[in-house]
This record gives sequence, structure tokens and C-alpha cells, in this order.
Amino acid sequence: MTEIPLQQHIAPSGEQMTVRDLASCPSPERWHDWVEYDAKAWPRRVEKHYEIIPTICFNCEAACGLLAYVDKETGRVRKFEGNPYHPGSRGRNCAKGPATINQVNDPERILYPLKRAGKRGEGKWERTNWEEVLETFASKIRAAIVEDRRDEVMYHVGRPGHDGYMERVLGAWGVDGHNSHTNVCSSSARFGYQLWCGADRPSPDHANARFILLISSHLETGHYFNPQAQRIIEGKMKGARLAVMDPRLSNTASMADYWLPTWPGSEAAVLLAMARIILAEQLYNREYMRRWVNWQDYLAAEHPDEPQTFDRFIEILRDLYVDYTPAFAAKESGLTEESIVDIARQIGHAGTAFAAHTWRAASAGNLGGWQVARVLWFLSVLTGSIGTPGGTAPNSWNKFIPAPFLKPRPAEVWNELLFPPEYPLANYEMSILLPYFLKEGRGKLSAYFTRVYNPVWTNPDGTSWIEMLTNEERIELHAALTPVWSETAWYADYVLPMGVGSERHDLMSQETHAARWIGYRQPVLRVYKEHQGETVQYTYQANPGEVWEEDEFWIELSWRIDPDGSLGIRKYFESPYHPGQKLTIEEYYRWIFENSVPGLPAAAAKEKLTPLAYMQKYGSFEIPQEQAPVYTLNERELDAAALADAQIDERSDKIMRNGTTIGVMVDGKAYEGFPTPSRKLEFYSPTMKEWGWPEYAIPGYTLSHVHPSNIDHQRGEYLLIPTFRLPTLIHTRSGNAKWLYEISNANPVWVHPVDAERIGVETGDLLRVTTEIGYYVNRAWITDGIRPGVVACSHHLGRWRLETSTGIDRWSSALVQLGKEQDGTWHMRQLEGIRPFESDDPDSARIFWREGGVHQNLTFPVHPDPISGMHCWHQKVTVEAAHANDRYGDVYVDPRKAQEVYQHWLTMTRPQVNRSDGLRRPLWMIRPYRPAANTFKRQLVDRHL
Ligand code: SF4
Repeated sequence: MTEIPLQQHIAPSGEQMTVRDLASCPSPERWHDWVEYDAKAWPRRVEKHYEIIPTICFNCEAACGLLAYVDKETGRVRKFEGNPYHPGSRGRNCAKGPATINQVNDPERILYPLKRAGKRGEGKWERTNWEEVLETFASKIRAAIVEDRRDEVMYHVGRPGHDGYMERVLGAWGVDGHNSHTNVCSSSARFGYQLWCGADRPSPDHANARFILLISSHLETGHYFNPQAQRIIEGKMKGARLAVMDPRLSNTASMADYWLPTWPGSEAAVLLAMARIILAEQLYNREYMRRWVNWQDYLAAEHPDEPQTFDRFIEILRDLYVDYTPAFAAKESGLTEESIVDIARQIGHAGTAFAAHTWRAASAGNLGGWQVARVLWFLSVLTGSIGTPGGTAPNSWNKFIPAPFLKPRPAEVWNELLFPPEYPLANYEMSILLPYFLKEGRGKLSAYFTRVYNPVWTNPDGTSWIEMLTNEERIELHAALTPVWSETAWYADYVLPMGVGSERHDLMSQETHAARWIGYRQPVLRVYKEHQGETVQYTYQANPGEVWEEDEFWIELSWRIDPDGSLGIRKYFESPYHPGQKLTIEEYYRWIFENSVPGLPAAAAKEKLTPLAYMQKYGSFEIPQEQAPVYTLNERELDAAALADAQIDERSDKIMRNGTTIGVMVDGKAYEGFPTPSRKLEFYSPTMKEWGWPEYAIPGYTLSHVHPSNIDHQRGEYLLIPTFRLPTLIHTRSGNAKWLYEISNANPVWVHPVDAERIGVETGDLLRVTTEIGYYVNRAWITDGIRPGVVACSHHLGRWRLETSTGIDRWSSALVQLGKEQDGTWHMRQLEGIRPFESDDPDSARIFWREGGVHQNLTFPVHPDPISGMHCWHQKVTVEAAHANDRYGDVYVDPRKAQEVYQHWLTMTRPQVNRSDGLRRPLWMIRPYRPAANTFKRQLVDRHL
């Protein structure tokens, strides 16, 4: 870097490049050589030259656009800012986006593949090489496939960061091995949405709404945090009113017109009271309901002797919810009757411009939490605001997943470790129960990959995961694919460093608003080197150390599993442009951009670019609405070709072809409808009835396991909310981001002043929080921002490491002693909190925070909802002042009690193993990885029940 006079640099075009203005958000024409003054040189005017390369943030699922500023002098990324050309984020990011630079430069990062040198969990590691890693796993996986043990290969993912890539890999291998984190996250809300409309996520059009209702602090729980936050504020600026139902005064609630601090688990009662008011006061959208709700199915099944008319349906509907008076809802929730009535009327008057959203929080916390999403969607149905401007669409209308070349056939195997017989309706894999299932001998794993996933820390009952991971008979080989150390990686056989957001390829799309777009994550230093004329064969050659990207890892591994193509696997990883040659990652995406994204080739041609070059230049593309409309897609009419050979079922109006429902007749017209069995919105779910839950055939209110009647404050009992996130941290992936830890480094227990007085504590005092299986010790924070009777603790903090200088980043982790006693109980004690340390980064010596929080999830038992399978996070706890020998960060766990709680919740299920049709699960229901249709039928008598 040198101090230079203005007008000195000459761009390739001949244009003189220098600081022309102090603008931010430079236009793409200037990205090849963007010039800024060096802030550190101030007051001298020293210019720095950057190449700006777009990529996609990987620090939550929102997939915002980032621009990497690559310093031309050093060839390193200097900073990340927002990409104004990204349709979702529009140049704006939350704190976690720019903090990607911390992750790139983290002095503690893992740079080379590691192999354990001692026993599992002993903490002894040696550097290995990728060739050895690939060969070891390829031979293990190949043996499992050849010997038809296709349920012994498992890929267990936390943050996928891509759409569809791994499903293709696992499909090519022919294994049923996709496992996810979703049943500690969103599977319950998904289930409620799926019952209604066949899609399992909502997509609110906040920017055009007149009234917005959010159940719990979804913005802070990380769901599309920044893109949706922008649009909520946009809607508010245009006059929308915002109500937030959350027992905690979140940042979102603090921006709302109405904060509704409901008792956790009572949300469905409040929403049904609102539905009752909307029905009673004739505020519902009669025509929409008549046309699109499956009321005919309901009357035929449940009231066959009544007139089969819509008017009679509405009368019955009113009767069904007559008990949900404002007084009842107020009693359950603690809200006032007036506020419930007022908001119900505003929702009714907003009509088709009513936007609503719930995701984790209430749905994720409670037994039957899926009813919250289901009843919230009921309000959208009543107002006719499904997929309208200002309404809420199924996510599939606002998300675009382009197809890759050569799709593998679905696997011919069903893995009961993922979808066991007790949970036929589980919306996602029964991930939290894997340790129990393996312990019970339901199976074993030959090759297990955890990828950006940290179940030892994140899941309930983490010690059961430690016991599972250290059992070499049940898990024969385990690799943790991770960009950062995790508590789980500590117990792996291999720790394989993978790129952070700017060091990898992925394709992403999210339902951030009423549009469809794709975002292209690209490894920016690889792109930079290629622009400099260098040839880069693999991304790791441009990344720091030997940090790989997953996409290339899976291609290499697949070629080694099937080196001669005889297993039929290799062909999926051969170039679509050069038959027989190994697929390059550039070719994979090039093919998609050229063939699967409507409008992209034309947009690229306008700029005389190839589709790939267009995506490399801008990093994202919004599909023109004429090619991908986004509103009221259920009303797409079926054309004559679609209707050829189709039959219409007279009673239900379903349009069938070859045994499959392809649409529905409404008022004499053939429509596509919704992807449900009836092709309508299913107020009435025959599925629930057929699969053993007739009492839940229509939307209702399920009493949560943390209903007030189960909690006695006089005995020191409280309801613990352990789910809320901080907008500045990323589950367990922000330990390598110093700026984020500088902002957020403690997770005290929120306690209302009334409760604090009863307990006898003040802010900063130590509390002991006792769960069903153990306890933890943390500090109290006394605040009016939580409703009385409820305590809350953010789930982010409390990272730990077992060795002084290896393992979890020292920015974020305490050094602990963790041990199992003779009696089987586990104890953790912090030996040292967070301390400054010497490294290449001088900031590590400046760390000022000393306590990094307390790990609470270890003390939670599993609570799998018997229907959706979701872990129900909320729980009854006892809160008291700490005992004499308690120390900050202490954790105690009794695994025998954990086993008892697991057994208890298992008894709540209703396995459907004796069905005459042999089905394991309704065929129409989504599975994240979907094996062949014939595997949905049970072939053998179940061996476990
Ligand atoms: S909202 Fe998510 S994707 Fe967007 S900048 Fe923040 S962490 Fe990154």
C-alpha cells in the first residue's frame, strides 16, 4: 500500500480509476477496481484498490447477499458489505453478515483435516490428508451399499446452506440417510402448515399488509431476520399495524403496536377466540371459504345427516368454537378480553391484506405446538389472505429450487432410525431420539457425517449424544464436517474443515417476500484468482490452509465409492458437458443456470454474458413475475392437455389422472389447487383421523405440558423459555466471530421483579434452575420484559472446551471439567471463564468479557411431541437462589431420569403398525429426502414393537 496522487491508476478499459466520490454501494461497473481511502491512514488520503465479488451470507438461512472486498495488494478479503443487487436483502445485512470477515481471519480456525490419535473424546488429534479421509469413508460406504446395508450411512445436517444438493448425493448413493436438526427447530410449525395446505412454511407479504400478526419473536429467532424485518418496517411505514404475541419483550415486540405477552402454550386459545369473533361479526371472507375450504369433506364425514351446504357448514363452524370466548382466552393467556377483541376486528378488517407468521418459539415450545401454526393459518383462511398481496402464501410460491441435471431415482430403502413406527406423521426425522434408538439396538451406523451440526451442545440431553458418539459399536466411523470447532466434533474420528460463507459454492432461495429469486454463493478468493488468470482446479487451493468445500468433497467421495461406475453412482458425478469426465463444481452450477432458471439466460444475453457469468457477476437473480407468478397460484387453471384422460370425482370435485389427484373443480372451472389430498385447504384433515388422532381432525387448542395448571409458583416452579435467540449470534457457529461475542457474551436468566422478590435474588445473583433431569447455575437478570411466572434464557451461550488451547474458540468458550460419576451422573464445572489470549490477532489479547454464559441444554430431557415429533422445548423448572457450593456454570445431569422422561413421552404416541394398507406414513406428506413410494409400505412385521 502506498500513498498515491489522485488519477494514477489506469483500469484495463483505459478508464482512470481513483476515488471519485465517497459513495457506498458502488455499481457493478466499478466492482473490478473500486477505490476507497484507507481509513487507517487518515488524515492522509491513501487509496486502496479492491475487486468486489458477490457471494451469499452463510450465517443464517436467510441467504442475504454479501459483497467481498478483495484487497488487490494482499489478495485477501478486507471486509464484507451488503449486496444492493440481491432481491432479498437489498444491500442490508444484520451484524452477522459483515462478521464473516472474523470467521475468515479467526486465528483459532481449523485449517487442515484432523484424525483422532487417542480414544474418542480424548482430545488427541493428528493432521491427516484428504486422500486418506476420502479413501477411508469411500470403502466404508461402498461396503454398506454393496452389502445392502443402506440404512447405515447417515448425513446429519444442522445448517444446510444449499437447496437440494445433498438430497441428490444421497439419492445417487441409494441410501435413506438424510437426517436434520429440524425437530429441535421448526418441524412443529411445519406440521401445522402442512395439514392445511401441503406446504410446510409460510411466506408473509409484510410490505403490502394492513395488519401483521407475529407469534413470538421470529425476527430474533433468526428466521429470515433481516429481509423480513425490512419489509415489516416497510409495511408499517405504509400504515400497517403490528402485533407480536410473545411472553418476552423481544426487539420485535418493542417495535410493535401491540405486545401480547401470552402465557406460553395459550396462543392457540387466543387465536381461536379471534376466529370466533371474525365468524360472529361476519368479518370472514365468505366466497373464499366457500370456494377453497374442504367443507364438503367435513360435512360428508362428520355430519352426513345435515344439509350438505356451505351455509350449514358456517353454522356448525360457529358452534364448534363457541366455547372460545374472549373471557376463556383471557383466562388462559393472561391478556385482556379487550385486546383480543380489538385485534380480532383489525385482522378481520385487514381482510386479504392480513400477514401472519410463526415459526419456532410457541410452536417449538409446547406439546401440540403445531396447533399454533394451524390455528394461525385458520385466521388467514377466514380472511381469504392466502397468497394475496399483503397476505401469507405457502412458501413454495415464493421460493425457487432449480433442478440439476440427471436426477437419481429415489432410494429403495426406508430407514426406521429416521422415521420410526411410533411417529408416522413426524414432519421431519426423529433426530433427537437417535441416541436412544441406537442404544435400544434399533440399528447401527457404518458411516456417520455431522455437518455444521452440534447435537452434543444443541440438542436436549447432550450427554446421551456423548455416550452415543463414543460407542464405536453403534457408530463405527464419524466425521464432523465443520467450519469451526464444536463440542460434537470433539467426539468424532475425523474433523474436516469446511469453508465459511465466502469459501464455498451453494445455491439458495428463500421466501423472504412476494417474489422468487436464487442466490449464488461463490468462493470469492477462487473467483479472484481466476480473474487474475490463475487456474484453480479445486476450491481448497484458493481457501486458507486445506479448507475444502462440501460440494467438491461429495463429488470426490462419490467417485471413490464407485470408481468404475458399476454401482450406477458415478454417472451422477460426471460432467454433463464432457461425458465420462469428472464433474467440476463450475459445470454443476453452469448447467442449472443454463437450463433450469426461467429468464436467466435472456437476462444474461442482454448483457452479452453467459448465465454462469451473469451469476458470478451479480450473485443473485430474481425471476421475472411473468415467468414465475407469486400470488393466488391455487387458481392456476389446468389446460386441455392436463385434463386429457382425467376423471372428475363427483362428490369431492377432485380431478384425477392415473390414480393421482391433479386438481379440483371449483364453480365449474378446473384449478390446480393446493398440494393436499383434497386439493383444497384442509380445515378438516381426514389424514389425522385415519392415522389415529380423530380428536385433532380440525384445528383446535391442545393443552401444553406447561399449562399453568401444571405449575405451582408457591413451590418455586416456573415455566422456562429456553428457545429465544439473540439477533447477533448464530447457534454454535459464532464462537469464531469476535465482533459478535463482543456484543453478546452472556445469557442470564430473565426473571420478572415479582418473581425475583419471591425467590430473593437481584440482578447478578446466582440462581439454580432445576429441570426434570438435572440443574444449571446461572446469573439472574431482573426485568419487566418477561411476564410473571415465566423465566427465559437464551440458548446461544455457554460454550465449553475440555482442553486449554484446543477445541472451541477461546473467544467464546469456558474451560470446563466434565465427568461421569460412578453412579452414572454427569457433572460440569467451569475451571476458567473466557480470558485474553495471544494470537496473530491483537484483539485476542484485548478480550474484556470473562463469563461466556451457561450451557442449559445439557439439563433438558427429550420431549418429542407424539404427533409432529418436535422436541417441545418449554419446561417446568424450579428456580431458587444458588446453593452454598454452587458456582457459575455448574451443570448436573442424571441420565436415568432422562431415560424415564423419554419412555414417558414415547407412551404418548399411537403407532399405526397394523394398517391394512401397510403404509408407514401418508403418501402425500412431505419427507425431506423421499425414498421410493413402495418403501412407504411396510414389508416386514415391525421388529421393535
Ligand atoms: S439475516 Fe442471516 S443471511 Fe442475512 S446477513 Fe444476517 S445472518 Fe446473514
